[in-house]
Amino acid sequence: MSNYEDFREITDRIDEELEKEAKKADTDKLTGDVVDDTTEDNEKIEHSCFLCHRKESEVGTLIELTRDIHVCADCMNKTFSSMGGFNPGMNDGGNVDMSKMPGVSFLNLSDLGDLSSLFGGKKVKPKKKKEPKDGGPKPVFDITHIPAPHIIKGKLDEFVVGQEHAKKAISVAVYNHYKRIVRDENEDIQIEKSNMLMVGPTGSGKTYMVKTLAKLLDVPLAIADATSLTEAGYIGDDIESVVSKLLAAADNDVEKAEKGIIYIDEIDKLAKKKNANHRDVSGESVQQGMLRLLEGAEIEVPVGASSKNAMVPTTVIDTTNILFICGGAFPDIEEIIKNRLNKSSSMGFIADLKDKYDSDKNILQKVTVADLKEFGMIPEFIGRLPVLFSLEGLEEEMLVKILTEPKNAIVKQYQKLLALDEVKLTFSEGALHSIAKKALEKEMGARALRAVIEEFMLDIMYEIPKDDNIGAVEITEEYIEGTGGPQITMRTQALLPKSE
Ligand code: ADP
Repeated sequence: MSNYEDFREITDRIDEELEKEAKKADTDKLTGDVVDDTTEDNEKIEHSCFLCHRKESEVGTLIELTRDIHVCADCMNKTFSSMGGFNPGMNDGGNVDMSKMPGVSFLNLSDLGDLSSLFGGKKVKPKKKKEPKDGGPKPVFDITHIPAPHIIKGKLDEFVVGQEHAKKAISVAVYNHYKRIVRDENEDIQIEKSNMLMVGPTGSGKTYMVKTLAKLLDVPLAIADATSLTEAGYIGDDIESVVSKLLAAADNDVEKAEKGIIYIDEIDKLAKKKNANHRDVSGESVQQGMLRLLEGAEIEVPVGASSKNAMVPTTVIDTTNILFICGGAFPDIEEIIKNRLNKSSSMGFIADLKDKYDSDKNILQKVTVADLKEFGMIPEFIGRLPVLFSLEGLEEEMLVKILTEPKNAIVKQYQKLLALDEVKLTFSEGALHSIAKKALEKEMGARALRAVIEEFMLDIMYEIPKDDNIGAVEITEEYIEGTGGPQITMRTQALLPKSE
């Protein structure tokens, strides 16, 4: 059928349908049986395109011509494009009855742009990129021309304090990963995927590092908590839901999602339970279930929803190029590492003191696949996370640096807030250490810093704007320790020496 015949068929059918509907409306009026078109059931019926017969879930929202005739944006586009240049006389001996085309007037489609976006088709309007207002990371890298690892690390340094080894490891892994994606498909040597496993105490910056990296690389990121995942069919999120989170983070752009990052936190909670005599649906089986995702598989995910059901359109995502990063605190793994090291060092002629590793602060850096196996991770799972590294626990000195050094450090944020009121805020060295000490007591790593500082800054942020004469505030150690107050300087006081 030619496009012109398509068009004629549609217009004829529209006329028929309109007539039918008019008659029906008349009889409905007589019988009082009025059908409400807006009922939910009517909305849920999946229509297909009148011309190409593809379903709405495949082609995006259909254009409704009458209640029973729907056309997809593609077919509508094609038909209209051909109509734009057609000469009726050539197809119909010049006897085309234009009045047969209800409501049709010819217009220049190039003025309209792409119809599919007009009618809610698959194309998603590109969102305006939001600039982070807190001085957070801005996209600086292009993954198709990924810069050398030292440049990636250099950028990470601006935001992440310390953790030198982890920053190096993650920069190299990311560099290799994105190089692998853009390499020539026909090369015979297949480069393995650089999925990562990070071991580090809570609050040591695992999530923060991944978030920063994703922003710098401008790739979508989905963060999932392993504790909420269960085997498919059980209560909880099934494993594939993490991929649909990523698709949402990529504004439903499949191509973008396929180059994104998925971070799965608290992965240690999936360890095999010792002496479990029932089916472990949230631990070992989740590890098993994740194997397919990690190595690369085509996953069918719902678009615009978190769970699959008949009403939600789905799309297929290939996870081959998605970078998976898993992180966990692995509590007490230090003991496993120590035992292994002690065992090997107490054998043979090079036998060492038994407690040689007891006071080793960097014991976590010595973690190996064997220790993770001992902890309860299954070998197939760890095997698919070839890049293994650890983060250090944070000490007082590091916490002070986190408070003050990063581009978007908490202290800098408070200073900026008060600067808007033209008040200069400073923290004495003693105050910073005191805040760090209090945060350490909470055993939540750097995560406790904000809570501690907020507790003390609440009064300051409340009181200072009350008095326009205040020109500067110094947070003192005494104020944090509760033995004194902050040091306040009035504007007039600051001006005094000059006026004298
Ligand atoms: P984890 O995932 O390891 O439990 P997070 O990444 O959530 O810890 O860290 C909590 C917060 O602490 C982050 O939002 C970040 O502000 C801060 N933080 C932690 N480590 C660092 C670091 N090395 N440099 C700068 N900020 C950090």
